[in-house]
Amino acid sequence: MRLLEAIIDANHRALTGDERAGLHPAEFADSLPIIALTCIDPRLNPLMPEVLGIPESQFIWLRNAGNIITGPLSSMMRSLALACAVKSGREIVIIGHTDCLVCKMSMVDLLERLKTLGVHRTRLPENLTEYFGLFTSERQNVLTAVEFVRGSPLIGPRIPVHGLLVNTESGRLEWLVDGYRALETASSTHASVSLEPGASSLDALKQMLPFHLGEMKFPEAKIGELAAKAEGIIGRVEHVATRAEHLAGRAGEFAEKVGHLADKATDWLNEVQVHARKGEQPLTKPPALKPQPPKAQPDKPISVPPPPPLQLPPRPPRGGKPSVTSGPVDK
Ligand SMILES: [Zn+2]
Repeated sequence: MRLLEAIIDANHRALTGDERAGLHPAEFADSLPIIALTCIDPRLNPLMPEVLGIPESQFIWLRNAGNIITGPLSSMMRSLALACAVKSGREIVIIGHTDCLVCKMSMVDLLERLKTLGVHRTRLPENLTEYFGLFTSERQNVLTAVEFVRGSPLIGPRIPVHGLLVNTESGRLEWLVDGYRALETASSTHASVSLEPGASSLDALKQMLPFHLGEMKFPEAKIGELAAKAEGIIGRVEHVATRAEHLAGRAGEFAEKVGHLADKATDWLNEVQVHARKGEQPLTKPPALKPQPPKAQPDKPISVPPPPPLQLPPRPPRGGKPSVTSGPVDK
């Protein structure tokens, strides 16, 4: 019997009243410590890790609201990867629970509650369902989380990833995903798929990654040092942001001055118009308007402007010379 098989067996036997039911951790030294991700619900505090029957010293407990994994490279995945690499966790188990309030919370309710806390919608990310990872089924949520962990390039292919659901009232465990079986299926699939000659497991990993390994730099610095460097960069970005804000302020002042000049120009134009009305010579000529051709209307005929009056030379007086001036004939 393997660790999770023994845990489920002992849990179910204990619930049927078997007083001798229990786990002998020493028999599973190769599978311990175990890494568990659970919800933050305080009702789980007295249940974990007792319902699993394993000692606290062998229980690496990660928690978040709704035991949610949002992606194969998410922050929680980083913690799971470090729990394996730094704390030598041997198996991973995602444990959902019944009556999860994160599951019951609708987006409208959540926004309403955030609003009462002074958190406004406009300052939140656009896709809230994706950001908060809200779900409507505790079971489905565990299946999704297991899938992300199993497919993550951060988790070794020999680490079993299980999915459980615990009843917060009875303490009964339901085994939703058998991580051992998934490993066996994966290894048999890999055995049947022949890799290209010369292809290595690194090549296979490259295909799974959403980025190119060649583009990644793996510095010698420790994670803590990297965090300190990141803080330095953030500090510099903040400095640039402050400068940008200052420049924006100057731009605002400039815009105000331009506005002031525009006002002065309007005053000047008004003055010019007043002078023009008084009969004085205007200082500026209004722009020449182009004559617009009449628009055709379906019901009305196009009006044709009357022709200009004929300009005939005045009849010369009899016996006299023709007049030099010419003009329209008075009728
Ligand atoms: Zn919960």
